[in-house]
Amino acid sequence: MCPTSHQPTGNGTDDARPSSQSPSQAPFPWHVGVCDAHCHPTDTMSSIARIGGMKARAITIMATRAQDQDLVADVSNNLAISSRNDLRTEAEGPRRVVPAFGWHPWFSHQLFDGAESQLSSKAKHYGEVLTPAPDAEFIESLPEPRRLADFLAETRQRLERNPLAMVGEVGVDKAFRLPQNWDRAEQSAREAGITPGGREGRMLSPYHVKPQHQVNILKAQLRLAGETGRAASIHGVQAHGVLFEALESLWKGHEKEVISRRKKRLVAEGAEDFSSSDEGEDDDDDEGRRAAYRPKPFPPRICLHSFSAPVQMLRQYLHPAIPVEIFFSFSTCVNLGNAGLETKFAEVVKACPDDRLLVESDLHMAGDEMDCQLEQIARKVCAVKGWELEEGLRIIRNNYERFIFG
Ligand SMILES: [Zn+2]
Repeated sequence: MCPTSHQPTGNGTDDARPSSQSPSQAPFPWHVGVCDAHCHPTDTMSSIARIGGMKARAITIMATRAQDQDLVADVSNNLAISSRNDLRTEAEGPRRVVPAFGWHPWFSHQLFDGAESQLSSKAKHYGEVLTPAPDAEFIESLPEPRRLADFLAETRQRLERNPLAMVGEVGVDKAFRLPQNWDRAEQSAREAGITPGGREGRMLSPYHVKPQHQVNILKAQLRLAGETGRAASIHGVQAHGVLFEALESLWKGHEKEVISRRKKRLVAEGAEDFSSSDEGEDDDDDEGRRAAYRPKPFPPRICLHSFSAPVQMLRQYLHPAIPVEIFFSFSTCVNLGNAGLETKFAEVVKACPDDRLLVESDLHMAGDEMDCQLEQIARKVCAVKGWELEEGLRIIRNNYERFIFG
């Protein structure tokens, strides 16, 4: 999610766009197809009608909490893409959504897993998962906790309704603290168009969700993604080690055999005829591919969204034994949120393999502002990589296609 405050959008025309396009900049080749790997327009439902007029070719809409699961499902009922062609050709009309269903770590305290199922009282549950121990008044303000198994069952049904739907937003966040209770004045001043359940600028309380609880909720959702063969979009803040360990524990025992370079060359020479005849043939056979999928305890593809870990962490995710295709996505609001981040951003983007790179807005509303942020981050990435815009956008769009379709 964008940490920036809600900005008024207006019903912007192109002329009114916050200009990232100084006259010296090359025109932005939208026709290549720019896809947003992670965003939250259902936080502002009035913006959904703008999706059809956007320049972006596809946007991946994350669900995060109780209040937005149905909204993401409803929006994708009407607007979901259904084939690779929807990404490869210029979009006509509003069909450009990929839905994601998941429970964000900021709300992970609201779920209880099997181990805690015997916990009969709300107070006991929140006492278990929050730290420091919350007082009674704070607990009173929290919703009745929900059984993780029920949420997973509901999510499975949502995934079954759309073969491209993925799991997200899920993750671990050690920096986040729960917002304070609403006081009466704040509550009546709430912006009416904002989907409830989020922070909305409230002061933060001292309470964290214990990392172990976050990890339990995360792993349960990733197992569901693995079982159903879906990609996952993951949030990781100040928890890079914990997140990596959680993922590693899921794929443990399923690592790929790492073949030496020499052996690889020999195998490649021997297999040349096969590989060339295989390629292309099943590239578009998505139904066949899905039918052939064998359930695993981890997702086949993962996007680490607004990736903010250092370069050595990125390299850790690229170990050839890891049996998951891991993508790294970048946004202006997180990765370039202040001027001091430029150097780190450039280092990480340079270290990111060309075929694993995605872009996103992470924005809470659809429309011109979302297009604008996508354009900005795509320009930045291309500049760092030394790519011509068209070339770069084509690479990123192909990556997005692999992330969604495999
Ligand atoms: Zn997000």
